[in-house]
Amino acid sequence: MAYDLIVIGTGPGGYVCAIRAAQLGLKTAVIEKNTTYGGTCLNVGCIPSKAMLHASEFYEEAGHSFAQMGIKVGKPSVDLPALLKYKEQNVESNVKGVDFLFKKNKIEAFHGAGRIIAPGKVEVKDADGKTQTLETKNIVIATGSDVARLNGVDIDEKRIVSSTGALELPKVPQKLLVVGAGIIGLELGSVWRRLGAQVTIVEFLDHILPGIDGEVARQFHRLLQKQGIAFKLSSKVTGVDTTAKTLNVKVEPAAGGAAEIIEADVVLVAIGRVPFTEGLGLEAAGVKKDNRGRVIVDPHFRTNVAGIYAIGDVIAGPMLAHKAEDEGVAAAEVIAGQAGHVNYDVIPNVVYTSPEIASVGKTEEELKAAGVVYQVGKFPFSANARARANLSTDGFVKILADAKTDRVLGVHILGPDAEAMIAEAAIAMEFGASSEDIARTCHAHPTLSEAVKEAALAVAKRTINF
Ligand SMILES: Cc1cc2nc3c(=O)[nH]c(=O)nc-3n(C[C@H](O)[C@H](O)[C@H](O)COP(=O)(O)OP(=O)(O)OC[C@H]3O[C@@H](n4cnc5c(N)ncnc54)[C@H](O)[C@@H]3O)c2cc1C
Repeated sequence: MAYDLIVIGTGPGGYVCAIRAAQLGLKTAVIEKNTTYGGTCLNVGCIPSKAMLHASEFYEEAGHSFAQMGIKVGKPSVDLPALLKYKEQNVESNVKGVDFLFKKNKIEAFHGAGRIIAPGKVEVKDADGKTQTLETKNIVIATGSDVARLNGVDIDEKRIVSSTGALELPKVPQKLLVVGAGIIGLELGSVWRRLGAQVTIVEFLDHILPGIDGEVARQFHRLLQKQGIAFKLSSKVTGVDTTAKTLNVKVEPAAGGAAEIIEADVVLVAIGRVPFTEGLGLEAAGVKKDNRGRVIVDPHFRTNVAGIYAIGDVIAGPMLAHKAEDEGVAAAEVIAGQAGHVNYDVIPNVVYTSPEIASVGKTEEELKAAGVVYQVGKFPFSANARARANLSTDGFVKILADAKTDRVLGVHILGPDAEAMIAEAAIAMEFGASSEDIARTCHAHPTLSEAVKEAALAVAKRTINF
């Protein structure tokens, strides 16, 4: 038997799983069909999108709030090729980092498409079509996800793009139409709006950001409108006419009715992602999938076939890099005979817009649906000294705590640096904290995180600064 474990796919799920397995003494190999490691996240997802959000946010700051703070920079302009190069360099250093980590941990890496021939046997076909068969005690499927397509709208990654094409538009479109007001649509819509595009977002539902706490989503919707993004909610894109120089996008009410035509230079299809298992040989190996194409696993990431596991975007649950990573660690530990575990109740979720949204735990809607009696503590950033100093006072922190036990059930932050502050809430919840525990924890002054403490105080109706 050549390997203890072969991981197919080197996204955040796969590469982290391989490293943890190697740490635990398992002889481990990875197979990657892409030329670089790191999967969606490092190549065309989290990393490049955050680089572009970061750069475009500075551009906007330079144009707006610098003067208010007494800094004169003149009228800033965008050098798009340089911005894209900065993003590419970011991607490159991250994917090289994974290569380094594989070598450091003595993980063998094979480039090519992996296919499960049978439990314990994986075929790798390289770019030249050459194949070799590897033997292993265990297999982890970490093949991730792909862009979801929209009927009647063909993505050419030039004028009609997925998130991948939207990360490398060679020129700022005059008019960008985004299909889908989920995280990816709002993040990339924000990037191109900041860089100068006129952005319209078409969403099938009657609200943006499905799954996010309703109050947060409503306030954020208003802020995005104020920033200049136009929305068409309860609407669906049913086709794009590409024959003219400008795209003519057909938009209908979600419930059906008369269509209108909206002109755009670029259309971004951001309606979600679907699990990717093409060419993996799952049917032949007898690995079961659910009706949405996700590999079915038990709480220990075991599929129905002994010795075959699955993690990350290819299984159920939020399609997030850190969820995939934690599953990678847990699966490796399970395979090594340890008690690997992921707490799905405490998985933070971040929208890296401006302001940011970060949340963990239950939303008010979920608590109401479950009949849980809860208390709400809220604190606005407009009452936080540091937020005022930073000229970023939009948003609030909201803490939801069990009415009887005071245990924190959910934390929702709309505001500056929400991404950093949500970690405090996640740790508190992981340790079963009450809102009083957070309220009695000393927070440094002046920090944005004092708004978290104040929201916790607000659960017991005793905020100090509001
Ligand atoms: C624009 C965008 C922005 C995002 N931003 C964030 C963010 O800010 N935060 C966050 O948490 N998540 C974000 N995500 C989601 C995140 O990228 C995914 O949740 C994460 O990458 C899933 O990891 P994974 O390991 O399951 O799969 P993936 O990262 O998709 O990796 C799967 C890998 O498997 C390889 N593969 C597939 N089939 C085979 C095969 N047969 N043989 C060999 N290799 C194969 C693929 O080439 C790929 O490298 C974003 C996604 C997008 C598209």
